[in-house]
Amino acid sequence: MSDGLPDGVERRPFDGRERLATRGSPVYGEPTDGDWRAWDASRSKLGAMLSRGLDTGLTGGEPVLYLGAAAGTTVSHVADFAGPTYAVEFAPRPTRDLLDAAAPRSNLFPLLKDAREPASYAHVVEPVDAIVQDVATRGQAEVALRNRRFLADDGRLLLAVKARSEDVVADPGDVFERVLEDLRSGYEVLATERLTPTHEDHLAVVATPRT
Ligand code: SAM
Repeated sequence: MSDGLPDGVERRPFDGRERLATRGSPVYGEPTDGDWRAWDASRSKLGAMLSRGLDTGLTGGEPVLYLGAAAGTTVSHVADFAGPTYAVEFAPRPTRDLLDAAAPRSNLFPLLKDAREPASYAHVVEPVDAIVQDVATRGQAEVALRNRRFLADDGRLLLAVKARSEDVVADPGDVFERVLEDLRSGYEVLATERLTPTHEDHLAVVATPRT
């Protein structure tokens, strides 16, 4: 690990600008340089967290559970540096693209499942050192609480909370407070940071299970 980045993630120049990068096959038309592919932090909340220097606890090589994988933009980068990467997504359409992203990645396991029902994938997912969550639906704290069962006692929850998914009209600051309060029933919150301007009305949360 260097620069607070997990092994396998580096800052490298692309098109005259330093950007995060991982080694793997391109997925979403991102610029490449040899084996390296740029990680577009404006399209990835986890990318934004790492790029801002948030202490995510990710070291590289660890098992990860990713909730809300969509078409695989971010989770493909995770699989480039992590160990076994379980990617939960409940919408069939993006899952088709996720399967394409997984094809050249033997450690990326797409699961067409609902993250609110972890029992439906508990037979597949091993204990993990990190849960990355970006589901952008109502009840984001509840999803994190239900999936806590997979997380090692000293593991990290890396959560992107989208305020508008909880309440379109409320002040985002109030929404974040409510989500954090719910989250604290099962997690200790270690750090929070608003991801403005790359991700408006999103709060990044780093948390660890309460024991
Ligand atoms: N994390 C993705 C990335 O950076 O590439 C983008 C995720 S997008 C903001 C949110 C995704 O979460 C959508 O694809 C949505 O279908 C999925 N999602 C929402 N609720 C879910 C649930 N309960 N179970 C599984 N996936 C869910």
